[in-house]
Amino acid sequence: MAGEGEGPAIGIDLGTTYSCVAMWKNDRVEIIANDQGNRMTPSYVAFTDKERLVGDAAKNQVARNPTNSIFDAKRLIGRRFSDSLVQNDIKLWPFKVIEGPADKPMIVVTYKGEEKHFSAEEISSMVLKKMREIAEAYLGTTVKNVVVTVPAYFNDSQRKATKDAGGIAGLNVMRIINEPTAAAIGYGLDIVANDKRNVLIFDLGGGTADVSLLTIDENTFEVKAVAGDTHLGGEDFDNRMLKHFVEIFKRQHKEDISGNAKALRRLRSACERAKRILSSAAETTIEVDSLYIGIDFSSSITRARFSELNMDLFRKSIELVEKCLTDAKMDKSGVHDVVLTGGSSRIPKVQELLQDLFDGKQLNKSINPDEAVAYGAAVQAANMVGMGNVKVRHIVLLDVTPLSLGVSVRSEGDMSVVIPRNTAIPTKMERDYFTLYDNQTSVLVSVYEGERPRVVDNNWLGEFRLSRLPAAPKGVTKFKVFFEIDANGILNVSAMEQSSGMSCKITITNYKGSLSTEEIHRMVHDAERYEVEDDKYKKKVRAKEALEKYTYKMRNIVNDKKNGEKLEAADKEKIEAAIKHVIHWLDGIQHAGADEFKDKLIGLEFICNPIIAKISRN
Ligand code: AMP
Repeated sequence: MAGEGEGPAIGIDLGTTYSCVAMWKNDRVEIIANDQGNRMTPSYVAFTDKERLVGDAAKNQVARNPTNSIFDAKRLIGRRFSDSLVQNDIKLWPFKVIEGPADKPMIVVTYKGEEKHFSAEEISSMVLKKMREIAEAYLGTTVKNVVVTVPAYFNDSQRKATKDAGGIAGLNVMRIINEPTAAAIGYGLDIVANDKRNVLIFDLGGGTADVSLLTIDENTFEVKAVAGDTHLGGEDFDNRMLKHFVEIFKRQHKEDISGNAKALRRLRSACERAKRILSSAAETTIEVDSLYIGIDFSSSITRARFSELNMDLFRKSIELVEKCLTDAKMDKSGVHDVVLTGGSSRIPKVQELLQDLFDGKQLNKSINPDEAVAYGAAVQAANMVGMGNVKVRHIVLLDVTPLSLGVSVRSEGDMSVVIPRNTAIPTKMERDYFTLYDNQTSVLVSVYEGERPRVVDNNWLGEFRLSRLPAAPKGVTKFKVFFEIDANGILNVSAMEQSSGMSCKITITNYKGSLSTEEIHRMVHDAERYEVEDDKYKKKVRAKEALEKYTYKMRNIVNDKKNGEKLEAADKEKIEAAIKHVIHWLDGIQHAGADEFKDKLIGLEFICNPIIAKISRN
């Protein structure tokens, strides 16, 4: 776990579609707006032939550059390429994803005319870096310490990969906390309650659904159970509507647009907008000019039709609530508050189903669903660096592990659970095992997570061998396996044979698709290189703008009639020739650096400034 650092600390909600950054300042949490004045920044990274764009700038150019504009990295992070969920997503994304080494998905883009491959961690690191820059611009100082949130149902690989993304961005990730827990902190900080309250957080976002049941008792936030689905959210609802309209288009125009990335991208954006409108209106229209081979598309959709298209998914999100209550062994009547968060929790049908489940109980919509998670992360960040008011400094967070963790040492293929799911973390547990064969001197400890009885159906995390065990008949040599989960939900496993004192230990970082320290170093280096390139490009654009501005200003001065009378003919000729030369040069250049623009500006100023000074004296 990363240590608590010096200096300011921020909270980042790294969302599937949007991210948000917040920090404790002036005795309260401030949600920090980006350079466009927006409190939410799109989790988009785009590559062009000239530059790399992150956030609003990347999202704004998506229609022009769909294959090199990356979003949804969170749906890929910590997953394998062969994962069926990844395969399904790939079919709908306009950008290309290929199989990298060790079954790792790699995103393919063309950047500055060259093909480049990026992992989801690298794309996420670019978004994290952008969020850090937003905070730095607001504070005017460097920020390194951060608390990043992840869906409660993220597994060990996904948590580790998110932490790696922070590392690549050069951040000190002090803690990874669960999104609904963060939302609960935001909610709990503002409620004044004398008694313990059981609070259910229903978090339905862009790509993930999370349900957490917590008990809030003064400053203690104790998670009782979590349930979730890391592939259920607003994007799935958009996809359903997208498929629906692709079919309508086929019927109306006898054309199939499903192979056209640009058309799909434009239609998907229109669907997302329509979906939002349907949260407040009963019907809306989709209109996309020249969607495909010059055909304008227009069609309407009602809220009822949208609900029908998604009903199974909506129900799935409600089933998570039932599962969470069962796991926490709590009856629904014991829940004091049902709190909504995540953009998709605004969907009326989802709210209706949830309210029905709680027998008509009023749902709590008091927290801002877009900002609550970053808010809670900022509170946790302040707590960790000793900032904030008394309440913030005394917060105690007791979270749980979302999946069971175990090994497959006992008999062929069976999952032997060491830490059951929903165990409070940090935690340390151990279990005894015996050798399976006569004279067995080594044992392979394979570590898995998941709820299925057979390990093949669970998620393999890594393995190590405990060797040089004393030779003995089977079942005589005993060894212990220790599991330790830190406050980030990241796992360490070790094993020891007592009589010989032989021990072996791994941090689960060598799961398939995870990054090695060397890879992280390389990516940090790449990230720095891209930053230098971005910086170089910005400097060049600024220098070019300054030259153009000055040139046109001079041209206007010379063309101004009043000035024309004051200008000596030789001076006028000199300025005009210099301007003509620069404009000609600007029109013709393909590749020039900031310095060349600066040199040209100095040259032009050298000719023009004395003459301008002369006319302003006259
Ligand atoms: P989050 O991950 O919490 O930022 O949620 C983003 C998701 O919420 C996206 O899929 C949005 O399309 C969706 N969303 C935002 N506002 C609304 C709304 N008014 N109605 C339905 N979905 C929404």
